[in-house]
Amino acid sequence: MNIIFIILEISPLVGLLIFLLILYIKRKKQKEKTKIICPVCKESKMKSKSFLIYANTTLLAVEHGYNENGEYFRDDPNTRDEHYRCSNGHEFYVEFKNNKLIGIFKDENISN
Ligand SMILES: [Zn+2]
Repeated sequence: MNIIFIILEISPLVGLLIFLLILYIKRKKQKEKTKIICPVCKESKMKSKSFLIYANTTLLAVEHGYNENGEYFRDDPNTRDEHYRCSNGHEFYVEFKNNKLIGIFKDENISN
């Protein structure tokens, strides 16, 4: 973090761009590590590719500050749902919180 502050003093715009680049790379790496397999295909041992249809992100307030021990905390209650359709026609969604995978769920509205 110290390096970021030094760069920010030199040029706020360059610092901001570098900061956003670091965030982008971190997020991309997280995505590459995440494995998403259609839950219906997994159950019936079929192979398929999954394609993103749409995504929803909640817009709840992020609470942050310092706790009783003076340590920084950040509570982000927001979740992101990514809806996918697999190459066998099944629909399902994946829930993320803080960019971490919470679970993969079958889309109950669609009959398989
Ligand atoms: Zn499937």
